Amino acid sequence: MIVPHSRPTISEDDVKVVSQVLASGNIAQGRKVREFENEIACLIGTKYAVACSSGTAAIHLALIGLDIKTQDDVVMPSYVCSSPYFATLHAGAKPKIADIAFTGFHLSAKSVKDRLSAKTKAIIVPHMFGDPADLDELLNLGIPVIEDCAQSIGAEYKNRKVGNFGDLSVFSFYATKMITTGEGGMVLTNNSDFYSRIIEARDYDKKPLIPAKYNYKMTDFQAALGLSQLRKLPQFINRRRQIASLFAEQFSNYRITLPSENIHKKPVFFRYVALIEKEGLIEKEARKGGVICEKPVWKPLHKDLAGVKCPNSDHAYTYALSIPIYPSLREEEIEHVTGTLKLIFKKHLSFRKS
Ligand SMILES: *Cc1c(COP(=O)(O)O)cnc(C)c1O
Repeated sequence: MIVPHSRPTISEDDVKVVSQVLASGNIAQGRKVREFENEIACLIGTKYAVACSSGTAAIHLALIGLDIKTQDDVVMPSYVCSSPYFATLHAGAKPKIADIAFTGFHLSAKSVKDRLSAKTKAIIVPHMFGDPADLDELLNLGIPVIEDCAQSIGAEYKNRKVGNFGDLSVFSFYATKMITTGEGGMVLTNNSDFYSRIIEARDYDKKPLIPAKYNYKMTDFQAALGLSQLRKLPQFINRRRQIASLFAEQFSNYRITLPSENIHKKPVFFRYVALIEKEGLIEKEARKGGVICEKPVWKPLHKDLAGVKCPNSDHAYTYALSIPIYPSLREEEIEHVTGTLKLIFKKHLSFRKS
């Protein structure tokens, strides 16, 4: 048996609604996209939502919403995928790379403060692995915050949905995210000026030549899939949380650091990330046993940038291992994951004294 690291959850009802849109003849951006935007705005609790072609396009549009210009700085953590970095370059601005905190994988407000200057125009704050970031201090810095909710739709911080705190928030509906449209994204805001600039930039048709426009539209058949997935989001989240508590119970006796509980946060477990000594060896042996674990961040951004130091991102990069967790995992697959990993832990890691 081979358990992949990640897999979309698509069922018959998803296939049906997409087919219906395809058969209708109206397949480009239209009524379904507007309905999807309304439902996401309603779920998160913002005034405006703009659907687009990817999470990366959503970050680019959010920066356009803020009227980011050449020479402006955008701060983001090193420990994240390269999407926010590239989106910042697309906007013509300069990425400033900050470190994460020593525990929990999230952007450190202290490190952000070290990177601030008069040119800082935005901070991108990812809620890593479905776990809400520590927002309070970051929101108090007086710089516009873009929440990156690509991994965390439905997660809650202090009893409010993430995506409801920042000046703007962005979502991704890539194949293996919490819910999917194949590829897709969304930008949310309460600010009507941001919203107008974003709507104006999303497509090029019948528009003035300056400033530049894009084609970042979502199709109606994608939106139909998104709506159908959104209806299942509560059950997806419950299933992920169920599997996470099973992992917590099964792995509690070994010398590894498991995701921690925090009364202010309701995570959705997009990833189940443990800190493990000898993580390279564990990953290799798990793979041999048919359990595909991966580094949850492929490579921290600062690794490719001379002169930027992010020791906590280095630490996470070295020790973090992502264990398969998703709603379409079958019972026997979950048993294979826990059984295989427990054998490997027993062999290579000492027991925790309890
Ligand atoms: C997936 C992801 C993105 C980019 O989304 P795409 O839809 O793949 O462009 C951005 N930020 C984070 C944290 C992500 O996980």
